[in-house]
Amino acid sequence: MELIEKLRILSAAAKFDVSCSSSGSKRRNTPGGLGNGAFSGICHSWTDDGRCVSLLKILLTNFCIYDCAYCVNRTSNDIPRASFTPQEVADLTINFYRRNYIEGLFLSSAIIRNPNYTMELLLKTVRKLRNEYKFNGYIHLKAIPGADFRLIAEAGMLADRMSVNIELPTNEGLKLLAPQKKREAILKPMQLIGAQISEFKEERKKYKKVPSFVPAGQSTQLIIGATPDHDLRIIMLSESLYRTYNLKRVYYSAYVPVSDHPRLPSLATPPLKRENRLYQADWLLRYYGFAAAELLNDENPNFSLDLDPKTDWALRNLELFPVEVNKADYHLLLRVPGIGVKSAKVITTARRFHSLGYDDLKKIGVVLKRARYFITCQGKYYGEVPMQEDFIKQKLLPKSHKEVWQQLTLFPEQPAAPGPEDVQTTITGEL
Ligand code: SF4
Repeated sequence: MELIEKLRILSAAAKFDVSCSSSGSKRRNTPGGLGNGAFSGICHSWTDDGRCVSLLKILLTNFCIYDCAYCVNRTSNDIPRASFTPQEVADLTINFYRRNYIEGLFLSSAIIRNPNYTMELLLKTVRKLRNEYKFNGYIHLKAIPGADFRLIAEAGMLADRMSVNIELPTNEGLKLLAPQKKREAILKPMQLIGAQISEFKEERKKYKKVPSFVPAGQSTQLIIGATPDHDLRIIMLSESLYRTYNLKRVYYSAYVPVSDHPRLPSLATPPLKRENRLYQADWLLRYYGFAAAELLNDENPNFSLDLDPKTDWALRNLELFPVEVNKADYHLLLRVPGIGVKSAKVITTARRFHSLGYDDLKKIGVVLKRARYFITCQGKYYGEVPMQEDFIKQKLLPKSHKEVWQQLTLFPEQPAAPGPEDVQTTITGEL
């Protein structure tokens, strides 16, 4: 098979892995336009220091011995199959790098023959790149569950980031849709990678010459909507992964119905809005000091699709508000809808020099259309409605939901896809 054909098949097969942030774009080139966001193959990711890098995103092979119901590459699916050799991946990476198309490689794989054989091929590829070609660019490599940890550990010395995808959040989900996969086999390498990262970090504090192990951290991906798991279970799992395995990122991927399968739900569209709410909640866990149990509970196990998780939490805890922006401590400011990490930091610094007025908040970047209902500024409340849940909710709901007295319909509207503001808050984390 021609190399270009392999590239077409194996870059398309990699597009459902969202660990690279620009996956899923549908924008096609227009006549006379420049660029195309629809083709898979090159995606973007962010390094530890915040730089955006372009990565060649491919699978080593899409031949798979497993039959996960939700996956396009499953063994029972009749699709064109291909495999790269480690030499081919190394050559492609170096050639693309020299042409300045990419700054790194995202290399994942289906399971060919067995986990050890697959991991050996991945390792051989990164060894070639680092040792033979002296390639110093970014490498994100998949660790294959079930592979010998010595192989994974050696790969971790060569890659910048590694990920082990959990895919389905619960044991029941795995049994239903991916019965050949075992939860322990997925968590074990994650645990070992996490432990190695901490160990090497500690050693480096003592001896500068100690090499780094997966310096950009490890990540994982969870598929949303393929199983009936609630957001509460998903966000609890993420919380424990961050705490226990020292994970850098959990990625959430709305289930894309790629084929019919009797055990899969029939969805008209991927649950994108739900995916977006989980990303927003994930920011609240990592940067805003929220615990999963504060955001959801057994009575409310799913995020509201109308309001972001922080606003929803604030409305359920109105007794804590309004907070005076000139007095509240940093952690309380972070809990005000419309005040993000950046603006909370600026507020606490600026108010040391003078008392902040309402106009100052606008300049600082506070999103007053949300924050005004939850703060006082120099003792004054600027929300135009009484501080009661229903009044504030009406002001904050998206336009399409404000008219509450509607004619009932047999075919209720589909929940909206994330709007520009949702996407912005997910990327910047300013909630
Ligand atoms: S093991 Fe991975 S590639 Fe293979 S069918 Fe399952 S999800 Fe797809």
